[in-house]
Amino acid sequence: MLNMKKNILFLSLILLLSIASGSCKRISNKNETKEVILASFTVLADIISNVAKDDFIVRSITKPGVEVHGYQPTPSDLVNASSAFVFIDNGFGFELWAEKFVSNLKVKRITVAEDLDPIFISEDFYKGKPNPHAWISPKRGILYVDILVDSLSELRPSKRTLFEENGKIYKNKLSKIDKEFSLFINNLNKDRRYLVSCEGAFSYLTNDYGLEEVYLWPVNAESQITPKRMARTISLVKEKNVPSVFCESTVSNESQMVVANETGANFGGNLFVDSLSEDSGPASSYLKMLEHNLELIKKGLF
Ligand SMILES: [Zn+2]
Repeated sequence: MLNMKKNILFLSLILLLSIASGSCKRISNKNETKEVILASFTVLADIISNVAKDDFIVRSITKPGVEVHGYQPTPSDLVNASSAFVFIDNGFGFELWAEKFVSNLKVKRITVAEDLDPIFISEDFYKGKPNPHAWISPKRGILYVDILVDSLSELRPSKRTLFEENGKIYKNKLSKIDKEFSLFINNLNKDRRYLVSCEGAFSYLTNDYGLEEVYLWPVNAESQITPKRMARTISLVKEKNVPSVFCESTVSNESQMVVANETGANFGGNLFVDSLSEDSGPASSYLKMLEHNLELIKKGLF
């Protein structure tokens, strides 16, 4: 009898736990329940929201404007993450914190880079490792959409048509930006085709559109400007008569201002790469970020 009581108690506990864990995977919103998709950074979260639209809640672990590479997740990030059914990260070593973070969670995981061809970093500590910033090229952004449509459809097959339709509309918008930028580069004098930035985050863009990439440091996680790198950048900007140099929104542009002052080049502004801006800023979505970057590059190089 005692054993039976114990068994009933045990079964009730399991039932309660399973109800509790089931309910925290969904968030109630205006009488409907929506599943939560968790992204590692704001750019990816925005691309996912354009694929998943209103049927899901999409959240980002890192907030707008935050440096993502070396981010340290907080206990509240873990609590937030536990309500998601899937964690989506970029991969290619972008989120140095992701492995440990995910090991504490019981969620499915999609890593976009597993289906992308990398461009490798050519120097320093990260030499030979994939450059993580593939989304910076609109051409690769289109691939992100395809990968997300496929992998989300595998997890939620009943939503496949919805993901595909949303993806198609969004890819058309990306194609428009892609064509516009290709046209600009085709009309740009060959000796002006240099993109000088702080982080070497533009390899996919420069590779896909035919620009030369010059940077002060390869990856933000190692953002140490050495006298050698500074001298190399200054001499190249002078030698090639590069009209404008740029930096990125998540790091200090101090070093690039030195390059501008030493060479007489314009400081062309801050490009957005690793993180979107707040809603009031110039890069509050992935599309706006690409348009903002391409506009600054056009103004700076033409
Ligand atoms: Zn970066």
